[in-house]
Amino acid sequence: MASNKKVSCSFCGRAKSVIESNAGMLLSGIEGHICNSCIQQGYEVIKEELGAPVASASHHQFELVKPKDLKAYLDEYVIGQEEAKRHLSVAVYNHYKRLMQPASADDVKIEKSNILMVGETGTGKTYLARTLAQKLQVPFCIADATVITEAGYVGEDVETILTRLLQAANYDVEKAECGIVFIDEIDKIARKSDNPSITRDVSGEGVQQALLKLLEGSIVNVPPQGGRKHPDQKMIAVNTENILFICGGAFDGIDRHISKRLNARPIGFSGDDTFHDSFEKDQIMKYVSAQDLKSFGLIPELLGRLPVVTFLNPLDATALLSILTEPKNALVKQYEKLFSMEGVALHFSPEALSYIVEQAMQYKLGARGLRSIMEAIMTDAMFEIPSQSELTDFTIDLTYAKSKFERTVFHQMKVVA
Ligand code: ADP
Repeated sequence: MASNKKVSCSFCGRAKSVIESNAGMLLSGIEGHICNSCIQQGYEVIKEELGAPVASASHHQFELVKPKDLKAYLDEYVIGQEEAKRHLSVAVYNHYKRLMQPASADDVKIEKSNILMVGETGTGKTYLARTLAQKLQVPFCIADATVITEAGYVGEDVETILTRLLQAANYDVEKAECGIVFIDEIDKIARKSDNPSITRDVSGEGVQQALLKLLEGSIVNVPPQGGRKHPDQKMIAVNTENILFICGGAFDGIDRHISKRLNARPIGFSGDDTFHDSFEKDQIMKYVSAQDLKSFGLIPELLGRLPVVTFLNPLDATALLSILTEPKNALVKQYEKLFSMEGVALHFSPEALSYIVEQAMQYKLGARGLRSIMEAIMTDAMFEIPSQSELTDFTIDLTYAKSKFERTVFHQMKVVA
């Protein structure tokens, strides 16, 4: 460290005394000295000029959240879906470990294991991803595969998925490069038939090919503001090698592919001919494999990049009832809180709750229907009660729930249908 009073920074010329009076620091080398702000500026210049992070991703230190703890956190919010929770927890934990492996190590290199989640709409795919995001220490974004089209067609370029990740990372490229991306509705870009098409397939195979580029781990030029790329736009180069991709889709009708495959198995699988016939539709999803997804229309190259395939169970009445009442931010708890802020204790009778679940089951919207049904039943009460200052208790019983719901457009739609 420089000790002489006349010593100054060889770059900006500021005297040591001035630097130190501003809580700065001067470092001495063989030929000269450099102050902390010049080091900072130098770092920024190098980062901008090289267009790449100065430090490698391996320099990251994370507080590792163990898979069991991660799953315990998911359990607080998401009902059931054990299999998917375990896969997600392990994948995220391994993702952190990968990021922490030393860059120079020439021994075993941990590869990332992107995940594909298969499950009917409203079973909690996005919700799982969102809940996970709350616990993550890396940037996270949700993208929709349906808006992406092959380059040159109307729609968004596949690179815009990474625009969202960059935004989530506050445009810190280094941070974004170790983020996690959830791509929803991946089934919507399946090609329409199992045979490679001769004609152009704008929404299917072409998009899968484009997506492959991201999943494979390559340097991708990302438009910082999203939208279509144009020649004058300044692009940001993002390396996707360390980005974890989680894909989700309903894959409507995949059960047919699964049962076809299971029934076509050579003799010796179970030794019991009636075994396959006895599959419940609800049960069959747990046998989903890459082969079924290929028959559904995902290209093998893409499937090769999504080595972990997991499923979400359809939600039955018991699960829906638990979703209504049990999770940390269950709908019932949310309404109770809203009412308690008015000084009113809100209660739901068990019959009313069963009625709500019954309606949700009929609409086949999974848990997504619960919120709209609840809202339809509660709106009148939420309108009236703030003006009724003497009220301290309010119970939603079956008669009340039924009378409110049957008057809604929602219900009338069902009657017409
Ligand atoms: P999708 O599988 O279609 O992505 P979502 O994750 O969007 O379904 O689910 C819609 C809503 O339903 C969520 O916001 C959440 O409130 C609720 N939900 C769905 N599944 C569950 C679950 N297993 N546990 C708790 N809530 C759930």
